Amino acid sequence: MAFVITSPCIDEKAADCVETCPVDCIHEGEDQYYIDPDTCIDCGACEAVCPVSAIFQEDFVPDDEKSFIAKNREFFQK
Ligand code: SF4
Repeated sequence: MAFVITSPCIDEKAADCVETCPVDCIHEGEDQYYIDPDTCIDCGACEAVCPVSAIFQEDFVPDDEKSFIAKNREFFQK
């Protein structure tokens, strides 16, 4: 299980989450930030600081944002 960054991050990229993450698992992509699901410890700190509410625990990602679960994972498989 991990937290996932979804569409409100695109072009927003506020990056408050990057500073907050205790295990440095949030990485910058071209269009948005991504959370490494293998490193995330599920602490929820990033969700609390995101100014555009783009971050969800995997089980709570809204239906229309579910493609971002795979998008976050794939970013780290390149
Ligand atoms: Fe980092 Fe915690 Fe967010 Fe996972 S839930 S990305 S460990 S701040």
